[in-house]
Amino acid sequence: RSPAKKFKASEQMTTFADVAAMEQAKGELAEIVEFLKSPQKFQKLGAQIPKGVLLMGPPGTGKTLLARATAGEAGVPFYSINGSEFIQMFVGVGASRVRDLFRNAKENSPCILFIDEIDAVGRVRGAGLGGGHDEREQTLNQILSEMDGFNQTEAVIVIAATNRPDVLDPALLRPGRFDRHISVDRSNKTGREAILKVHCRKVPLADDVDLAAIAASTIGFSGAELKNLVNEAALGAARDGRDKVTKSDFDLARDRVLMGAKREEVLSP
Ligand code: ATP
Repeated sequence: RSPAKKFKASEQMTTFADVAAMEQAKGELAEIVEFLKSPQKFQKLGAQIPKGVLLMGPPGTGKTLLARATAGEAGVPFYSINGSEFIQMFVGVGASRVRDLFRNAKENSPCILFIDEIDAVGRVRGAGLGGGHDEREQTLNQILSEMDGFNQTEAVIVIAATNRPDVLDPALLRPGRFDRHISVDRSNKTGREAILKVHCRKVPLADDVDLAAIAASTIGFSGAELKNLVNEAALGAARDGRDKVTKSDFDLARDRVLMGAKREEVLSP
């Protein structure tokens, strides 16, 4: 283990049970889970597992959640970084941070290394608007060379997420890099109901609350927005000093979420 633990694995356990809907994506990641649980089993057979998985989809659709749950299912550490963090770094720091990140992951393998918003560093090279894109390119080049440099015996799976797959440098998508692509989209009515159920697990609901009806009235809501909806409804009930969340709390909450109302001032335990 690395003595200077610069990269702390996330302690919080999330599993596929926390991820509603998205059955196809979970199915595609099941193989990765099996590999991370016992890499030797795959290595003995010479079976190739992708090193890099790209999760593609609109904001709030559960990409981060899914990556975290993959680690939780396999019971391995989850290390994450946001692509935009590299951009704020001083020249030369981005590439060395990538090196450290991969070194740390290898030392703690099997594990998942998650790069959120990879498009922040992974845009087509040479397409920058000037001002610091050399730094970005160096960082991207380092990511590419790290991915080429490790092999299956290292049992590190790199998962990246983006809502702009169209702007990514094709080099990132080549075989041996992020060559497994999983689309994550907004859910249909059944999926929205399942997501609402997950987020209502600990919320006492009044008898007039019908999650199927709420799902039907929230077309286009992402998982993050549905989570927000449940929270807003619970806040409404708490504000009124009630111990159950009612249908009208959900109705008001939906309007609030639709209006993008500020909610921070209300919640503070
Ligand atoms: P971004 O692109 O903005 O980073 P994302 O796709 O990574 O978004 P998450 O951060 O994973 O989305 O989702 C935000 C929150 O929404 C999650 O922590 C989770 O609570 C909730 N959520 C999203 N999708 C689901 C789902 N399928 N089941 C349960 N909860 C979900």
